[in-house]
Amino acid sequence: MADKVRDEVFWILGAARSGCAAGALLRRHGAVVVGIDDQQEADLGRRWEREGLTDLAPRAFDELLTGGLRPAEQPLPRAVIVSPGVPGGHDLLAGLPTGVEVMGELELASRFCRAELVAITGTNGKSTTTAWCAHVLGHEGRRVEAVGNLGRPLALVADELEAEDAAVVEVSSFQLETMRTFSPRAAAILNLAPDHLDRYATLQDYCAAKRIMAGLVPAGGSLVVWTGCPEAVAWPTVGRRVLYGDPSQDTTVYLDEGWLMARDDAGCARRILPTAHLSLKSPPNVLNAQAVAALGLSLGLDRERIAAGLRDFPGLAHRHQVVGRLGAVEFINDSKATNVHAVCAGLTGYPRPVVLIAGGSGKGEDFAPLAAAMGAVVTVLTIGDEGPRIAEALRDRVPVEEKDNLHDAVARAADIATARDAVVLLSPACASFDMFANYRDRGRAFAAAVADLGAEMIDPRP
Ligand code: ADP
Repeated sequence: MADKVRDEVFWILGAARSGCAAGALLRRHGAVVVGIDDQQEADLGRRWEREGLTDLAPRAFDELLTGGLRPAEQPLPRAVIVSPGVPGGHDLLAGLPTGVEVMGELELASRFCRAELVAITGTNGKSTTTAWCAHVLGHEGRRVEAVGNLGRPLALVADELEAEDAAVVEVSSFQLETMRTFSPRAAAILNLAPDHLDRYATLQDYCAAKRIMAGLVPAGGSLVVWTGCPEAVAWPTVGRRVLYGDPSQDTTVYLDEGWLMARDDAGCARRILPTAHLSLKSPPNVLNAQAVAALGLSLGLDRERIAAGLRDFPGLAHRHQVVGRLGAVEFINDSKATNVHAVCAGLTGYPRPVVLIAGGSGKGEDFAPLAAAMGAVVTVLTIGDEGPRIAEALRDRVPVEEKDNLHDAVARAADIATARDAVVLLSPACASFDMFANYRDRGRAFAAAVADLGAEMIDPRP
């Protein structure tokens, strides 16, 4: 596409992180870009400042329309680039004549990208698996970018990557909705659980968006799927299906007696590394490691190289990140656990008693399934808008206390944990927007509250 956009008009709907990156990419190639954002200009400016976009934003648009202003109907744009946060029924999209392409930033950026694309989707574990996979692929010095939903749009780097480079892309269901030509050499479906039901009418609609990924993998590519996700295992694809998980199925990567194993093309079982040597060892991360190994094998990496990258990946902040220690009590920041499935996966088989801090703003989820994951939990402290609903769902199962704010919850949790030889885990099962700007802000507030207790701070990453 790069040679075909000069002097063509594009509209960018949503002028935040991905919209600014898409606009700047198009303008680098001579397109005329109109940015449209329904926020007032001053609010948008503050957002750019908060998100570190003040350098990029001025390079992204020839014209910026804010606060409900709409572009002239003529000339019609060649395409409209829609940001993930824009609702599907937005009036500007509803009024478009047929023939005007509508796409997301990833679809656009992939049309400018010569590098090998690897895509990762699922409900939970996308960011971790994306970063871990990029770490493994880049272990021997190859340029590999981890991009997409995890904060760095592909459009920032798409046109500067060479054919021998790679981009590992975290893909959300919203981005998938407009993908057509994006063609990953390997793609992974990690899991499917209820999420974003504020945006999708049903779980089936959400899964239908995820299913688009299976259709994007080309012949000669690989679709990596967890066996715990039978509906995704059955999705049709022209690519090669590579399974991980349950060894009794036709699985390429699995666990056996403490080892991460891989079957080679002849069906022979080969050891990759002991699970005790994985840099991240929680149950969900052992699954993510299997996905990374399956992607690595699909892309032709040898087992030694995969093992090396699985061993020394530092993990991401805000996902089971041990931030501090007070005596024997560890404080763990899992602020990114914004749905029930993530919380349950993180608590499964937890090796120590846990004081859980949960709550925040809701996404329309049912909290009842949390009850089944309370095995290691000695007390739940609830916060935020959804605190009362979570308390209601868990009260019969485990002691619950409702707290006014995160700071108070951390102080109380520390007392209980000291008495019970437990860890304190922030794993909210909710979004953060009732009390914080985002999950990172919430994680930082958790760490600050831990520091206020006089704890030894371990991991300084923001
Ligand atoms: P995403 O980008 O999909 O939100 P993250 O890697 O940021 O995924 O992790 C989000 C939350 O999901 C964290 O609480 C993490 O501990 C949990 N998690 C990570 N991997 C998995 C998995 N494979 N299954 C379930 N939960 C997971």
